[in-house]
Amino acid sequence: MHLNGEVSCCIARISKKLTMSVPSTETSLQPLVRLLGHARYVFAGLLLITVVLLVWQRYGMEKVVELTGDHFPLWVEDDRSGGGASVASLERKGQDLIVHCHIASKSAWPYCKLSFNFLKGEKGMDMSRFDFLTIEGRYAGPGASKFGLVLADIDEGLTRLDQWQTYKINQIDALDLPPDGKVFVIPIKWFGVAQWWKDMTKPTLAHSAVNVDNVARAELMINGGGKEGEHVFTLHALRLHGKMISRDTLLMWIVAAWVSCAVGWLAILTLSLRSQLRDSRAAVALLRTVNKALELEARDLAGQAHIDPLTGVLNRQGLRAALMSTSSLLADPMAVIFIDIDHFKSINDTHGHDVGDDVLRKFANVIASGIRSSDRLVRWGGEEFLIVCPMTNVFQGRILAENLRHALHQQAWPVGLRVTASFGVAQHHERDEVGVVIKHADEELYRAKQGGRDRVCAYVPSDMIANAEAA
Ligand code: GH3
Ligand code: MG
Ligand code: MG
Repeated sequence: MHLNGEVSCCIARISKKLTMSVPSTETSLQPLVRLLGHARYVFAGLLLITVVLLVWQRYGMEKVVELTGDHFPLWVEDDRSGGGASVASLERKGQDLIVHCHIASKSAWPYCKLSFNFLKGEKGMDMSRFDFLTIEGRYAGPGASKFGLVLADIDEGLTRLDQWQTYKINQIDALDLPPDGKVFVIPIKWFGVAQWWKDMTKPTLAHSAVNVDNVARAELMINGGGKEGEHVFTLHALRLHGKMISRDTLLMWIVAAWVSCAVGWLAILTLSLRSQLRDSRAAVALLRTVNKALELEARDLAGQAHIDPLTGVLNRQGLRAALMSTSSLLADPMAVIFIDIDHFKSINDTHGHDVGDDVLRKFANVIASGIRSSDRLVRWGGEEFLIVCPMTNVFQGRILAENLRHALHQQAWPVGLRVTASFGVAQHHERDEVGVVIKHADEELYRAKQGGRDRVCAYVPSDMIANAEAA
């Protein structure tokens, strides 16, 4: 009973702990699990953003800089500074820049040019992030609508701001304006470093390639194909076109975003798995304890099923289990004593059921104290008991029964009662079922009752009597 209470209490404590610990486990995992659950949306969103950005970068995201606006100082020059006689002048009409160029063939290379200044302090314009230039204009005059473009760049380690010949000259020659003032697209990669500049400056190999990351000046060269006379070049627009974010920069950011998300996801996954593992281990440990407690409880309950609760001796189920588990109980010779309290009903009737119960308890006690530890006392039912005595023949069983009968006489019983019992003894035969010897003992008990009660009757087969007499 005591063990039972302890086990129940232990189970109650553990189940309380389990119910308390399971929600707390969930709570600690919840944010991580929720994040992991959303991971697919994060990755789907990232994929969508990647596609949108790449498409936008390819077909849009344009950055345009208007060179012909009022943002940059501009002026015209001609070949007179080099000994020529051409004369250039600039006229503005609305947003149009009209260059009037009178070409005189005094110089070997007569020209007029429109110059744009991008210098701000010592810094020019970074055109490396632009892909192309567009030009819209018209030509009128006796020659051809040819023109050239120059981008004079400040090359680090080469250019000195006060020496014009150290500016790197990136140029394109002999471009032809399309008719009808259509837009003409000029990719930046069409520019090359002017050979005459290389011949003059003799730059190192590192300084020989096109560089437009620090353009100080742009020049639109006009010479009407070298024909003498009045040439009019109307410049409607000169624009730089590029992307707000270069393809390489965008790809770098996209890769960085994917890597960050993947690393974050892996980190969260690892944390979550580690946490789950920790919680599972705790749950397993708890379940092990519960299991142990339940095992104890089950063992205890099984024990209880074999014990008569009123007297604390074995019941029939207990006898069956004992016979199955303890083979020594059947060790020959084995005697069975059947006992029935005499006139027990009248004790109940006269003194009440509780007194009857006291008598039963005391009766079991007296009998249990009078038998050997190898014997088994069983409450067969009501006020009937059975003793299984291994290594005991019928004669020894009869003596034991007599002793027990006398012991009952010597006891002080509740409410001054006098309690006696009748005994039936029989011996087990190897070839017989256990039920047979019990039946014989029961028959002897019946004889004892018939004989006047408070006595012992024993079943002694005739061959045994003969043997006993011979001995
Ligand atoms: P006999 O000498 O012939 O055996 O007469 P008896 O009165 O002992 O036998 P009977 O079978 O007539 O009565 C047995 C009584 O035992 C009847 C029943 O109420 C009583 N009894 C059975 N189990 C219990 C129990 O657990 N407690 C109590 N108090 N009485 C019980
Ligand atoms: Mg009876
Ligand atoms: Mg009786």
